[in-house]
Order: sequence, then structure tokens, then C-alpha cells
Amino acid sequence: MPEFTPATLPVLSPAQPVVWLGRTWNGLDDEAVQQGAVVTRAGRIEAVGAEDTLAVSAEAVRVRVSGTILPGLIDLHVHARPGYLPWFVAAGVTTVRDACNPLDMIGALLSAPGLRPRLLPSGPLLDGPAAFFRHFGPGAVHEPGDGQERSAAALIVRTPAEARRAVAFLAAEGVTHVKLYEQLAPEVFAAAAHEAARLNLPVMADLGFQITRGLSAQVDARQALACGVRSIEHASGYALAAQRAGLDPLAPLQDDLLDELATLTVQAGTALVPTLSVTAPLATADRPAGGGLPLEDLGGEVRTSLNAQWNAVHAGMAGMRHVAQADWALAAALSARVAGLGGLVGAGTDTPAGAFTLPGGGLHAELERLVHAGLSPVQALRAATGHAAAVLGRADLGRLEVGAVADLLIVGGDPLADIRATRDLTLVVQEGRPLPASALRAAVQAPQEVSA
Ligand SMILES: [Zn+2]
Repeated sequence: MPEFTPATLPVLSPAQPVVWLGRTWNGLDDEAVQQGAVVTRAGRIEAVGAEDTLAVSAEAVRVRVSGTILPGLIDLHVHARPGYLPWFVAAGVTTVRDACNPLDMIGALLSAPGLRPRLLPSGPLLDGPAAFFRHFGPGAVHEPGDGQERSAAALIVRTPAEARRAVAFLAAEGVTHVKLYEQLAPEVFAAAAHEAARLNLPVMADLGFQITRGLSAQVDARQALACGVRSIEHASGYALAAQRAGLDPLAPLQDDLLDELATLTVQAGTALVPTLSVTAPLATADRPAGGGLPLEDLGGEVRTSLNAQWNAVHAGMAGMRHVAQADWALAAALSARVAGLGGLVGAGTDTPAGAFTLPGGGLHAELERLVHAGLSPVQALRAATGHAAAVLGRADLGRLEVGAVADLLIVGGDPLADIRATRDLTLVVQEGRPLPASALRAAVQAPQEVSA
């Protein structure tokens, strides 16, 4: 049987079995299999193992890879727009967890033509009557009975009963998780979390940064953990917990408090999604070097609009760099501790809320930032694959296992040795369909950019 390479791959029918041969990392293990093999067929992984032990049918197309085969990446914190969607896939991000968008926008995203990642939506977040989103105008929030529940980015709930009704409404709309925000009263937050658990919906809690409103939130990280939330975004609520313990959250936190909070997080089974890509660029006056992030060189309308926002956000933070530093240091220290204790750290970029978070490409920067924070490369990779899928509650994603979705990434080099190797994309395989890097780039430059 002849062997192909990613560069010589013929056009394949979806039913054609393909065996991908080369260094293989399955999304969970500490090490890669050096002479590994992954068999894909009809969008699923049919077999995985060492090349010399795997029985492969003679009809399979054999593709020899010189770098590393790993699962498609997952970005756990995104606010998507239709124009961003091809950028994610082209950067190897095959799944995104959307972290708040109106239901009307979710509908537009899920029906967007062209290349797009698997998008798992929260729909609008739940917040209390003092919601920050009121600053975005009267249409941004929904009050019970006002008829704006499809166009609002935040549903206001004042009582446990309203919280339960809102969660049930979102569940009926088909959301995959629920986002709880800063100004929910503790008993309302708890009621929403319990209703979500009853309906099998994971909860993401966003209690704010110190640079935003994190010290005036109502619920702190301890309370959110006690409610069994699936993830805490931005390492939020920990600074408030420190403040409530009588400490100055802007000062470097003591090791014993960090150890205690990290242990509580791991014991709760809650993932930390630190979104270091939000605070790291705000903590310095310099624009981060791109370092070869996928598609960072591309222009077009999406990039122009992102540039304008990045520059405004970055400049607007000039007087607050020391606060962003404190946010970053706390998130980094907790991430390293949670990972060290065997807990879940998830990779999320908050695209495009921060500065310089390129759709898709930004996740590769987040991986490097996790390593700078003290995670090993394999821990950082898990944060965007196997552990990210655990946050989603999706055992069929983020891993190369029999029966899993055939979302694969083929990169040059070995990202377990050098995390920056993820940026060197050779091929993205989306549900078994190979998409060469050159074709992906062309798809991003295609006319659907105008839908940004
Ligand atoms: Zn966000």
C-alpha cells in the first residue's frame, strides 16, 4: 500500500478509512506514542495505538506525518461573531464554548455558511438587577415579561424562582451550559446552579476581574465552588475571597491562602479557566509579539475591527496596569497550583473581549501563557483538549480514542517538548475531513468576512 504525506494527500470520500501514522498524543496521557497510528472513518476515530500493533484494513489510505498528531483544540471562552468562525478552524480550534451571546446571535452563528467550528452556546448570561450590561443600553438586558429574551445578552433575575425559570427557558432553547454573572445574589446564584444541575447543564461562573467589577461581585469563589459550578472563568472571585478574608487582593497573595483556594477548587471538581490572554497584555505597556500565531498576518475586515477594539482596550487600561498585574499573577499562581494538584485547568481566550486575542490564533498564545504560568507543556495541551472536553462534559471530544469525533490536528515538531510547536499547523482534520493549511487560509480570506 503506498503511503501519502499531508502534502500529497488525494481527495478522499468521507467513508474512506484513513490511517494517520506518526507521533501521536491522545489528549490525556503524559507522553506521546512515538510510532503511533490513528484510524479515522466516517467522521469518527475507529482505532488508535502503536503502529506495529494496530490491525488496519487494506483499503485504508495511509498518511505518514513528520510532526505530531493531536486532538483538535477547544477554546473554552469565546464571544463569537459569524466573521470569526473560519478563523478558529483555520487555527486548529475545532470546538468553541461560547460564553454569552443573545439567542438571536446564536441562531446566526449556528446557521453561518462556510467553515466553522463546533459551537457550544450558553446563550445570554444570568445576572442580578445591578447588571453591568445595562450600560450597553436597554436592549442588552431582559427583564421578565419585556419580550426581549431573544435579543438580550443578559437575563435579569431577582429571586430564586426567577432564576429557575430563566435556566429552564435556556435549557429549552438548547444551550449547552449556563453562565452566571457578577451581580447575582448568593441565594439566586445557588438556585440557578441547582436548577442547571437538575437539567444536566454545566455552569460557568464569571465573577469579574479586579480590573472590572470583581471586588464588587456578590458571590466569591468559595461560594461558587460550594454551588458545584463546572468552571470559574478568569480565576474570578478569588480576589474577592481574599478581600473577604481581610487581605489586600492587590498584594501578592500568601502561599497558604493560594494553596487552600486551589485545593478547594480541585476538591469541588471545578475547572479554572484563567484566560491569561485577557490580563497578560493589559499588564504591560507593550503589545505582545505575535510569534507566528496562525493567521496573525492576515488583514481584512475582521482584523481591522479587532485592531480598533484592541487599541482602545489596551490604551484605556494605561492607568490600571498594576491591577491587571494583580489579576494576572493571581490567575497564573492558581493555575499552576490547580494543575499541580491534578485538577482541571481549561484554556480560554475570551476572544474578542481582551486586547490582542485573535480568533483561533489567540488560543496558541494562551497555551504558551499557561506554560509561563508554570504548567508543563502537556498540562497546557490538556487544558485545550482532554481537560477542556471534561469541562464541556463531552467524552467524545478533545481526545484520540475509539469512538471519539475525528477532529485532529497535525503540527510540525513536538508540542509536548515546545508548546509553540502547535502554531506550525500542517493539517486540520474536522470530523474526518482533511483541511490543508493553505486551503484554510484561503477560506478565511473568502468573502464571508463581510459578515463580521
Ligand atoms: Zn467573556
